Amino acid sequence: MAIAFDNSYARLPPHLYARIDPEPAPKPRLIAWNAALARDLGLPEAPEDTRAAVFSGTTLPEGAEPLAMAYAGHQFGGFVPQLGDGRAHLLGEVIARDGTRMDIQLKGSGRTPFSRGGDGLAWIGPVLREYLVSEAMAAMGVPTTRALAAVTTGAPVWREAGRLPGAVLTRVAQSHIRVGTFQYFAVRRDVPAIRTLFDHARARHFPQAETPADFLRATVAAQAELVAHWMGLGFIHGVMNTDNCHIGGLTIDYGPCAFMDAYHPETVFSSIDQFGRYAYANQPQIAVWNLAQLATCLLPLMQDDQDAAIAEATEIVHGFAPLYEAAHGKQFAAKLGLADRREGDDALLQTLLDRMAKLGADFTRVFHGLRTGKAAAEFREPEAFEAWAADWRTRLAAEGTSEADAKTRMSRANPGIIPRNHRVEEAITAAVAGDFAPFQRLHTATTRPFDPAPGDADLMDPPRPEERVQATFCGT
Ligand code: AMP
Ligand code: MG
Repeated sequence: MAIAFDNSYARLPPHLYARIDPEPAPKPRLIAWNAALARDLGLPEAPEDTRAAVFSGTTLPEGAEPLAMAYAGHQFGGFVPQLGDGRAHLLGEVIARDGTRMDIQLKGSGRTPFSRGGDGLAWIGPVLREYLVSEAMAAMGVPTTRALAAVTTGAPVWREAGRLPGAVLTRVAQSHIRVGTFQYFAVRRDVPAIRTLFDHARARHFPQAETPADFLRATVAAQAELVAHWMGLGFIHGVMNTDNCHIGGLTIDYGPCAFMDAYHPETVFSSIDQFGRYAYANQPQIAVWNLAQLATCLLPLMQDDQDAAIAEATEIVHGFAPLYEAAHGKQFAAKLGLADRREGDDALLQTLLDRMAKLGADFTRVFHGLRTGKAAAEFREPEAFEAWAADWRTRLAAEGTSEADAKTRMSRANPGIIPRNHRVEEAITAAVAGDFAPFQRLHTATTRPFDPAPGDADLMDPPRPEERVQATFCGT
């Protein structure tokens, strides 16, 4: 398979990564292929077994220069000076048809010098979860890494649950640079490497940013947009460690992530998030905390006067709050079908959310129900919704928005189909047993999230009590 690689990260100084080949798979089998993304990337057509061999790391395409990127990170607030790609291999970069330089990375492809005690592998569960959720996010317009391929390796992976089928995900992104990538060099006081990384990341994400301060401002703005988008969809990332915080504002590292079913601001799914650090409502604050870590890394590149640099960086990080507030307001204005934001809108939204929380209403179904006129049915006490809806209609009328206009606005803000946790689990369970039909069906439906088809009704249903997923687990 002749891929036109053009690898720029591999040209950076060698201490930014470790060169290492992926582990060949004994019996690679392609289980998902993103043909549209492959076309966008300008990849050549190739037979299925060739793609399975290439995207499991078994056959190295010409021009690939596999490497594991070095990074550090704050995990649940505690700093780990060395993490890095412990089970991922950047094969190389290609220039997509729209001119964007894109990374092609394998995940679950074997050990690297950053594996620490890990086996470098992934089982099919986290691979399919990331494939489903990242592609659904892309379809909903959320900045995200993409999924190009999923391949089973034919080798077993051992986890707490026992022997599981091994798999490799091919991830595509504008880069895989994280806040933690900067932290790796900052903690080593390697200012030349920070500068190199800054130049590289700037070129790939924010070429208009002339200075490190501009770059920080751009990352802050991108993260504010991103987290507002998550909040608008009831998405909980689950592990917002700085090593999972993308410099270009992409959603990255889908681990124990999940969409809320019943709305509650304190919702947490991740089994390892004992104290709810990464609960739904905490996500904006955590983003600020992560951005403050990035700011600290960039200080040596900012003004010579450290006090002045600190003051400038602090001001930029504080800029998150108004940007987030505006982005969040815009998200929810669209979700309510409103054309603009007015005084009282925050209170209107809060009243709805409070009633949803109190009455255990389903986040996605309520907002989708505003589109279809069926929201009241989502409340145990429909009167509570109706009382709110009267104020909502008054507000729509006040700006002259007709019901049809409101519906048009909501039609691209309020998805009907999301990869619900219990459906993702169901698809994974079936896949482990060798049946990929539930995965395919869920993938097809969630990549047209705003346009449910008549046969999708069961995918839109909230989980029955016995189907409710209480905890999600990291991909490890
Ligand atoms: P994650 O939880 O996927 O964000 O990963 C956190 C860190 O653990 C990263 O450095 C990963 O590369 C590493 N890691 C996770 N799972 C494995 C594994 N199975 N083998 C080796 N390293 C891993
Ligand atoms: Mg990670």
